[in-house]
Amino acid sequence: MSDNRATAIYSELGIKPIINAIGSVTLLGGSTPPKPVLDAMDDANSTYVPLEELEEKAGRYIADMFGAKAVYITSGAGSALTLATAAFMAGDNDELIKKLPDTSGMKDEILIQARQRYHYERCLTLAGAKLVEFGTKEGTKRSDLESSITENTVAVHYVANETFSDPNVLSLEETIDIAKSRNVPVMVDAAGQVYPIENIGKYVNMGADFSAMAAKYIGAPHSTGFAIGTEEMIRKISLQSFIAYEMRRVRGVGRPQKIDRQEIVGAVASVKLWTTLNHEDRLAKAYKVSDTIASYLKNIQGIKVRVKDNSIGHDPFGVSIELEDGDQSLINVVNNLKNGNPSIWLRCNTDMDGNLDDSKLDVSPFGLHEGEERIVGEKLSEELNKLK
Ligand SMILES: *Cc1c(COP(=O)(O)O)cnc(C)c1O
Repeated sequence: MSDNRATAIYSELGIKPIINAIGSVTLLGGSTPPKPVLDAMDDANSTYVPLEELEEKAGRYIADMFGAKAVYITSGAGSALTLATAAFMAGDNDELIKKLPDTSGMKDEILIQARQRYHYERCLTLAGAKLVEFGTKEGTKRSDLESSITENTVAVHYVANETFSDPNVLSLEETIDIAKSRNVPVMVDAAGQVYPIENIGKYVNMGADFSAMAAKYIGAPHSTGFAIGTEEMIRKISLQSFIAYEMRRVRGVGRPQKIDRQEIVGAVASVKLWTTLNHEDRLAKAYKVSDTIASYLKNIQGIKVRVKDNSIGHDPFGVSIELEDGDQSLINVVNNLKNGNPSIWLRCNTDMDGNLDDSKLDVSPFGLHEGEERIVGEKLSEELNKLK
């Protein structure tokens, strides 16, 4: 469970801490940064420094740690997507920077595969861009992209998911190949592709102009994220930021997406930890926690339980629970655990189209504190046994 100080500080507001078996989600606060990150943030707190210089030097430092070309620290991966979209449309032109999200006189169409429509695309349209779909829900061909690029195309968006790679999308290699031959930049949402570490800088090294990474997945303050890009792209993104808004008096769309110097320093500390961590230990621990939960769920009739074997990305292993009888639902299990004491949060799966699949449930080890796996296993077993 959360420690006594945490319990006390929240109880003053009438809030009870919950057990997080969902994973790193914004709804629950993303991450609980470890002590070295908190210490760095605390140390950073007592003095002022020029934020423009901090952004530049911290970005350089992180880029070197990631083996990436250049990095800008943003208010979450969501803001990285918004700033990048604005940067693609307005570039170096101060008049255009000031005009967004009004895009008149600018190229403003971002191409996205029909199979890759997703809830974070709103972060692109926030800057004023319009999304234009190519391919179909069934799949995408090279010719779909080739015939969709027009003089209004400002970039092609790609959503990277190495854990569940989708064989029916146009691959990033092909996307880059086609877009580059038409001088159109490529942007990648790689928010969760934080492991193996080579993957972090990979997309830009492959030829994309930009990729977004969510720092919530590596124990940074969850309000931070990284824009990873070519030097030129990162410079253009910096022109959209809240800092340029004040420093240059060029008022861009990035002003409300502010981050604090402690958060920037915390992001640096989390990158230092992440790039030097013993990931074999991290993965072994995630496996053990998952296996312990699964051990409580043996011999329950009507369900299939399996420890997942993924180690790529931000959420290794975990337990997959699936009903054998498709007519039954796991919604009550989820709700009863959430309303129980202690309250345990987990969720049913969503399918490719973003629809809820209430016959499946995933348990994530990511947000579980030591010992909580036993509580989750016990309570889950109780609820699943009620289904019979
Ligand atoms: C979490 C996430 C985001 C948003 O990241 P924030 O840092 O929370 O803004 C965007 N895209 C994907 C794929 C994510 O997983």
